[in-house]
Amino acid sequence: MPRRPWLLCLAALLGAGAPALARPGGPELAYEVRVDPALSRLEVRVCCAGWRPRRLLLEDEGALALLEPLAAATGEASLRPHAEGGLEPVGLGPGRACVAYALDLERLSGGRRTREAQRVGQDLLVRPGLVLLRPALWPANLEATVRFDLPPGLEAAVPWPCLDRARRLYRLDAFALRLDARIALGRFALWTSMHHGRPVRLALLDQPCAFTRAGLERWVLAATGAVATLYGGLPPPEVLVLVRPAPARAPPVLFGQASRAGGEMVQALLAAAAPDEALPGEWVLVHELLHLCTPWTVAEDAWFQEGFVTYYQEVLRARAGLISAGAAWANLLDGFRRGAGAGTGRVLGEESRLMARTHAYWRVYWSGAALALAIDAQWRKQSGGRVGLDDAMRLWNRRHGRLTRPHRALDLLAEAERELGVTGGTQAAAAALAADAFPDPGPVLAWLGVVPSGPHRASLVPAPGAAVRDAIMRAPGGSGNRYEQDANR
Ligand SMILES: [Zn+2]
Repeated sequence: MPRRPWLLCLAALLGAGAPALARPGGPELAYEVRVDPALSRLEVRVCCAGWRPRRLLLEDEGALALLEPLAAATGEASLRPHAEGGLEPVGLGPGRACVAYALDLERLSGGRRTREAQRVGQDLLVRPGLVLLRPALWPANLEATVRFDLPPGLEAAVPWPCLDRARRLYRLDAFALRLDARIALGRFALWTSMHHGRPVRLALLDQPCAFTRAGLERWVLAATGAVATLYGGLPPPEVLVLVRPAPARAPPVLFGQASRAGGEMVQALLAAAAPDEALPGEWVLVHELLHLCTPWTVAEDAWFQEGFVTYYQEVLRARAGLISAGAAWANLLDGFRRGAGAGTGRVLGEESRLMARTHAYWRVYWSGAALALAIDAQWRKQSGGRVGLDDAMRLWNRRHGRLTRPHRALDLLAEAERELGVTGGTQAAAAALAADAFPDPGPVLAWLGVVPSGPHRASLVPAPGAAVRDAIMRAPGGSGNRYEQDANR
């Protein structure tokens, strides 16, 4: 496609070639991102072809206020406030056209916006939707790319599919800039290694820490191995793990967050003083990786999204031999006890819907985990051990593993029961959602033969469901993990 003179002029002004566009014909959008060596200023040129966006947004009005249009410098389309919010490009050409702008990163990462744009040592951690203007309407067939043009020594860690590693060219989808995620820019260590059949990209941001890269590798290997006991491998095609050390010694992982905005990633806040050996087998990374394999659900179904993942963070660590089956049961009992003593007195459906506001996390997470256990045990009992919650998790991952739209948890349960020929789970969950009491795990624990035997201890005793109990914590196809003997003492 011949370039228009004004595009050549713009390219010359910015000192760069035309941005790479993936496929001529359909609507295209290409971002080029530049930063200075001190990471104080970010410049973006965004070009469209085959269509014209009418309104461009940043995910934060405060960030938008810091945006400095560069139209005067480039002679290209300008940006002005749009009546409905965001910015309106003015003067875009009929074929391909660009707008350019700059953001003051010092101001963006300073002040009140500490969670979504912050410095980690000399590095920058930022929500991409805060720096890349996105079209308010994203055409269904839009081919969008972003390329980072960085000074020597600087790296970009992003969760998006890579089209050209050397050019730092990535593909963006409709969720990449809209949903919450983080990218890192700076001089951090960034490397890729294979874990259970998939590349995991690790970025260790700039802060002193006791753990090493080798320790991080063993941590990821242990967590991905636990997830692989359920899925047979690591389902996402690639995962980015952003590690941020923070001044603390324990627990080894202070915080984790999974994101699937345009690609799978986990952010983890690690205790800087944690030694390598404290990392493998901890629960947070297993939990976050499981989120990346679980269908996207509506926010009010946090009981399902968090609860089922919380149940499996214990089960899968036992299956992988990272903790004993007895420890996994003890952790579940502890959680049920904490969950039953927490909350605001609302019915579970409401508690789940309002969780972000009320912070009733224990009640929601552990209610969901208690339901997961009850449903797992019921399906296994009904089917004579042929079907369990594992089968539903794998079914959901196969059918709904890619991000398309948020699902409703009761629909997912109904779908699994239809496909797997089991019953009762949807009904049990619906009843729990309408109840203000914690879903009582007593009956199922008694049937399984799991009884509390002191603080952080569970005893496994003879019971009608003992075989189901042992099967839950045993890796499929294996004769059990290396701690099985301990668990049965
Ligand atoms: Zn979670």
